[in-house]
Amino acid sequence: MIQYKIFPDNLNSHLFSVELSFATQIDKTYHLSLPAWLPGSYMIRDFAKNIVEIYAHNGIQETEQTIKGISLNKTDKQTWQFTATSTFTVITYQIFAFDLSVRTAYLDSERGFFNGSSTFLQVEELPDEKCQLSIFLPEPIMKASPDKLSHWRVATGLTRAKGTEKYQFGDYIAHDYQELIDCPVAIGNFDAFEFTVEGVIHHLVFTSKHFGDRERLKADIAKLCQHHINLFGEAPFKEYWFITHLLGSGFGGLEHKNSTILQASRFDLPNPNKPDETSENYQTFLSLCSHEYFHAWNVCRIKPKEFHPYNLQEEVHTRQLWAYEGITSYYDDFSLFRTGLISFEDYLKQLSKTATRVYRGQGELKQSVTDSSFDTWTKFYQQGPDAVNNIVSYYTKGSLIALWLDLTIRKKSAGNYSLDTLMRELWIHFGRTNMGTSEEDFINIANILCNEDITDAFLTLLNNAQRVDLAPLLSQVGIAFAPQKFKQLNSLETTDSDAYSPYIGAQYKALPLGVKITQVIENSPAAQAGLAVTDVLVSVNNIQVSEKSLQQLAEHFPENTQVTCHYFRDDQLITSEIIFIDSPLAAIGITEVDSTLSEKWRCKR
Ligand SMILES: [Zn+2]
Repeated sequence: MIQYKIFPDNLNSHLFSVELSFATQIDKTYHLSLPAWLPGSYMIRDFAKNIVEIYAHNGIQETEQTIKGISLNKTDKQTWQFTATSTFTVITYQIFAFDLSVRTAYLDSERGFFNGSSTFLQVEELPDEKCQLSIFLPEPIMKASPDKLSHWRVATGLTRAKGTEKYQFGDYIAHDYQELIDCPVAIGNFDAFEFTVEGVIHHLVFTSKHFGDRERLKADIAKLCQHHINLFGEAPFKEYWFITHLLGSGFGGLEHKNSTILQASRFDLPNPNKPDETSENYQTFLSLCSHEYFHAWNVCRIKPKEFHPYNLQEEVHTRQLWAYEGITSYYDDFSLFRTGLISFEDYLKQLSKTATRVYRGQGELKQSVTDSSFDTWTKFYQQGPDAVNNIVSYYTKGSLIALWLDLTIRKKSAGNYSLDTLMRELWIHFGRTNMGTSEEDFINIANILCNEDITDAFLTLLNNAQRVDLAPLLSQVGIAFAPQKFKQLNSLETTDSDAYSPYIGAQYKALPLGVKITQVIENSPAAQAGLAVTDVLVSVNNIQVSEKSLQQLAEHFPENTQVTCHYFRDDQLITSEIIFIDSPLAAIGITEVDSTLSEKWRCKR
């Protein structure tokens, strides 16, 4: 057993103290390391950079005099080596924790949080050893404010050791290091409530103040959980934890086997005063919950063969992320419709936005989804200002390929099977059995369900940088899929009107003075005016612009008006000319035209 202890003992300097101890063989050399990345987030993050001080000693603690330090040699950016001098060794170190993303660790006087991957050193010689984690209450709070202390609790998917009750500080168990780092921990005075689906207790934890409708959250998220459990046929966990960091604004999520860490705005939660309203922000939050919960099967258990096991020391390349993120993205919104949380019309609006994100740039004509998966480490996860033009997202394009696959299987099997069936087959053959998938496995199962060889068409979609032609398949299920104009300059909304709709090919966000450019489509009027990402556009036609007035100005110019514009690049004012043209058909409108036919897609199989 490897014993880890964590002390949140310097809240205001954001430092956790960690103690790691284990039985050692005298004269044997051991290696301790932290991962360079964590599963689900494909970027080298070098978590070891947050280790502040590290010491080792021989662990004989009967009298202080017998404790002897052991020298630790650092052998690379994340590894320490030592030779044991006794039968028990203790390592102590501190972790700087001030990142409230879902990926690392955070500590202040209000809350604490840590992923094991950025907190707990692995003993490389003992990868399969059972781990015990003892989580201690913050010391300064105990001394300074015992009242506050009484409200701090623990939320984690780790197994509670005997004597530790739910939400208590105390001892937790992991079967091995991989499980230890797959169960992030939140501590603090948080709100927590539960619901049960198929006998599985699901915890909803919000780590900061919120005003959301608890009963509605429970009821709505329970529907999504029931949907996903039904889809795969079983829940492969005894408990599940949705742990949400609430901020003024924020968005993100990371999947784990029996928990997820989410980040959202406290105002994304449903308003108890408006029980019949599903705001766009709440819909996005539900979609995020749906997405991460689906991952509990699809990528946490069914996963690419390259992730068996994870090598967390360096990049691991797979060409299959289109399936793991794309199919998950397809189901995140589709399940909102299927469970009645949103209407079919609202679902199609969401799908239009997804398709528009893929179609508006040239990225999908330059990079395939399999290449995008492979290169995620340096491209998708490190997007530059050219991303919209030069790379394709394996999330959005992958979800369109998932839709193509669903409709193809439904059509060729005469409605007997669907993508649901394919996911269940994957679960049975690769999830339950803990076997990694290869690309051929998806194709083979699809061929069987279609009772036809669709390999060529499938591989073309995966490996070629070309558009997915969804119009013919969707028309067979009563859905129109048509390239349309953008309704407004700075929006993904589409219009089927032929009327002039001004366009410059840039996205931007409002500033107190002017608008900051966030995206420029190549060869667009904005690009021809020289505008680039991070420029601040301050005037058009010598009129100061805001997000609103730029739209108003554009609507008053005749088509193809060329006007002077001024923008700042860094601190230099640049004068240029910009032309307002009619929107190209670069957005996608998706609408239902035949509700009897659409039943072929909407029904579950
Ligand atoms: Zn995901």
